[in-house]
Amino acid sequence: MDLVNSPIPMDVNQLYLNGSYTSPHSTEFYSVFNPKDNSLVADRVSIADDIDVDNAVTFAEAAFRGPWGGFSAADRSGCFYRLVDLLEKQLTDILYLDSLTTGNPVSLIPNLQLPSLLCVCVAINPYNSPVASLFIKAAPCLATGNVLIVKPSEKSPLGSLAVASLFERAGFPPGVVQILTGDGRTGARLASHMRVRKISFTGSVATGKKIQVAAANSNLKRVTLELGGKSPAIVFEDADVKNAVNWAVNGILARTGQVCVAPSRIYVQRSISRKFIELYCEAMRDAAEEIGDPQVTTTKFGPLVDSEAFERVQSMINRAKNESTLVIGGSRIGDKGCFLEPTVFLHPNVDAEIYKKEVFGPVSGLKMFDSEEEVIELANDTEYGLMAGVFTRDINRAIRVAGKIESGTVGINCVSVVVNEGQMNVQAPFGGKKQSGTGREFGEYVLRSFTEPKTILINMAA
Ligand code: NAD
Repeated sequence: MDLVNSPIPMDVNQLYLNGSYTSPHSTEFYSVFNPKDNSLVADRVSIADDIDVDNAVTFAEAAFRGPWGGFSAADRSGCFYRLVDLLEKQLTDILYLDSLTTGNPVSLIPNLQLPSLLCVCVAINPYNSPVASLFIKAAPCLATGNVLIVKPSEKSPLGSLAVASLFERAGFPPGVVQILTGDGRTGARLASHMRVRKISFTGSVATGKKIQVAAANSNLKRVTLELGGKSPAIVFEDADVKNAVNWAVNGILARTGQVCVAPSRIYVQRSISRKFIELYCEAMRDAAEEIGDPQVTTTKFGPLVDSEAFERVQSMINRAKNESTLVIGGSRIGDKGCFLEPTVFLHPNVDAEIYKKEVFGPVSGLKMFDSEEEVIELANDTEYGLMAGVFTRDINRAIRVAGKIESGTVGINCVSVVVNEGQMNVQAPFGGKKQSGTGREFGEYVLRSFTEPKTILINMAA
C-alpha cells in the first residue's frame, strides 16, 4: 500500500524528476500518518540520496540550457496562465492530499495568485502549508527564467508530489520543476550541492542557520531565509476590542497555531484588560467547538501535525504552568489524534520559555501594559521580528508604533498577512528582521532575489 484514499493517481514512493514520476536511487523510505487519528496515509515515501539530488540538479541544468532557456517572458507568462487553469480544476483534490498529513482543514483554500511576471534554485519547505509554499517560491523563480527543485517537508510531501505534473501539462519543459522527497538529509545535500545557486528556505531558525553554513561552506550560494516568529499583538485602550479579539483568536488558531506569523504574545492596555481577557477567553472557548476532522469541509480548526509536535507543545505547556497562570485549555481533546485545546496563559514571566520561544501551537500569552513606550520595549524584547499587530483608532499612534516595532510586517487593526477577504497581497514584501530571517518574498524584492545584475561595458572606441 502506498497511499490511502488518494484522489489523484501518483506514486508516492517515487520522485518527480525531469517531467515524470521516477523510481529513486535511494533505498531509504519512511511513512506519513494522518494526525486526526494517527492512521497510515502513505508508506515508502523516498528519502532522496546524493545520487538522486545530483540527478535532479543535472536535469535542471539541462532544462535551463535547453528548451526553457529559449522561453521569452511572454512564453513563461503563458505557462503560468495555463498552470492556474489546471490548478483551479484540481485544487480541491490537492488540498485534500495536503490535509491528510498536515491536519489543515480542507476548508482552508490558499491564495494562489501568481505574479505576472542563477540557474538551479532550490525550495526547502516547512510542513505547515506545503502547496502554498511551493507556489510562493516557484512563481518568482520561474517567472525570472530559473529552474527549481522542491524539497517538501518529510511530514507533508503529498500535495507537492501531486502538483508536480501540472507544470509540464501547462507547458513548462521537463526538468524545470522537480520534486525530491526526503528529510533533513536530503535538504542538507541540496544546501551543500556545488551546482545549486540559490536556496529559498522556509522553516525553523535552527535549520535556517544550518543551511546558511552549508551554503557558505560549499559554493557561497545565495540564501533566502523565512524563519520563525513570536508575533506581538498590541491592543490600546481606544481599540475596537471585538475586532482585536477576532484577529488575535483566529491568528493563533489558524492551522492550529502552526503559522509563522501567529500572534502568540498579546499585550493589552491595563484599562481595558478585564474586558479584553473576558472576550478573548470566551472566543477561544467558542473556537474549541469548531475543532474537528480536517477532511470535513465545514471544519475550521484541525489537529497539530503529528504526535511529535503534540508532545513537544504539550510539554511546553506543562513546563509553563510553573511560570505563568493557565487560564484556559492546556489539554488534549479526545482520545486519539493530535487535537489540543486552545490555550491561554496570563502574565507570563518575561524569561519564561512559553513567552520567549516559538510554540507553533494554539497557545498564547497575555500581558498588560500601561504606556506606549513600555509596550514597544516589551514587543521588541525578542529574537524574532516577523509580524506584529497594532490595534488602535488613533492613526498617528498606529503609524508611530508600527515604525518602532522591529518586524518585517506590521498590521494596523489586523495581525495577519491575509487581510482583505482572505487575499494575500502578493505585491507587499514579506519577510523577517532579526532571527526571523533574511530576504523578502513577494513583490519586486523577490524577483531581485532570483536574478543577478550584470554589467556589460562596451568600449565604443574599438
Ligand atoms: P524545519 O526547519 O524543521 O524543516 C523545514 C524543512 O527543512 C524541511 O523540509 C526539512 O526536511 C528541512 N531540513 C531539516 N534539516 C535540514 C538541514 N540540515 N538542511 C537542509 N534542510 C533541512 O521546520 P518545520 O518544522 O517544517 O516548520 C516550522 C517552522 O517553519 C517554524 O519555525 C515556522 O515559524 C517556520 N515557518 C516560517 C514561515 C515564514 O514565512 N517565515 C512560514 C512557515 C513556517
